[in-house]
Amino acid sequence: NSMIKINNMSKVYTTEDVETTALNSVNIEIQKGEFVAIMGPSGCGKSTLLNILGLLDNPSSGEYWFLENEVAKFTERQRAKLRKGSIGFVFQSFNLIDELTVFENVELPLLYLKESTAERKRKTEAVLEKMNIMHRRNHFPQQLSGGQQQRVAIARAVVASPPLILADEPTGNLDSTNGEEVMKLLAELNDAGTTIAMVTHSPHDANYAHRIINLFDGKVVTENIREQFHI
Ligand code: ADP
Ligand code: ADP
Repeated sequence: NSMIKINNMSKVYTTEDVETTALNSVNIEIQKGEFVAIMGPSGCGKSTLLNILGLLDNPSSGEYWFLENEVAKFTERQRAKLRKGSIGFVFQSFNLIDELTVFENVELPLLYLKESTAERKRKTEAVLEKMNIMHRRNHFPQQLSGGQQQRVAIARAVVASPPLILADEPTGNLDSTNGEEVMKLLAELNDAGTTIAMVTHSPHDANYAHRIINLFDGKVVTENIREQFHI
């Protein structure tokens, strides 16, 4: 019942004849419904791993099985197609589009999926309600607090009901109150069945995960089971 299975995967960047091994023969398995935290010092490969998990980049070698697809050998086009329907992203800096309203930002993934106007309205409003941000539907991102912007970003990440959410330091730009609210929303989504992989520097946030994968110098060094995970 695994959603993600990575076998002996490496990622080497080459810039001006200098090779950097960002990931060094990693093996990672993530079950459907799991909530995993990825931790480690700056430069250990967390962003690289998240980019590959999110089908934004390909490994240099090894296998990446995502929902029964061997995606390591996918073309960029194939990756983009699979990504659209199956992965939602949440970033540290929210990454909302300033020129679009809250509603339009959240609706965007459904537009990419070519859903009808009626379906888009129904799903977007439902998720805005759930994220407690409906009253700001016609505001622009710059008119919102950081906590509100992140709730909009989470709404956008989940509006198409992807089975996987990837979060990169989702509370990194938030105060502790707003950070806590964001973590509670992610935990609720996980309880409802969404698999989550989250990069974090915060041991407090990592407490929400079932398991912590610790990276060091491009290798998985330890995995701490925090909580028994049952399928
Ligand atoms: P983080 O804040 O997650 O530790 P970094 O600041 O190390 O991330 O990197 C931010 C982005 O810049 C990463 O997504 C990565 O792809 C890119 N990057 C990091 N190091 C280099 C580099 N040496 N050369 C080119 N791009 C890099
Ligand atoms: P983290 O997110 O843990 O800070 P990264 O995945 O950003 O780590 O980086 C891992 C290693 O790969 C670092 O040495 C970084 O400088 C290097 N790196 C990351 N992205 C690139 C890139 N696009 N080009 C060259 N080197 C990179």
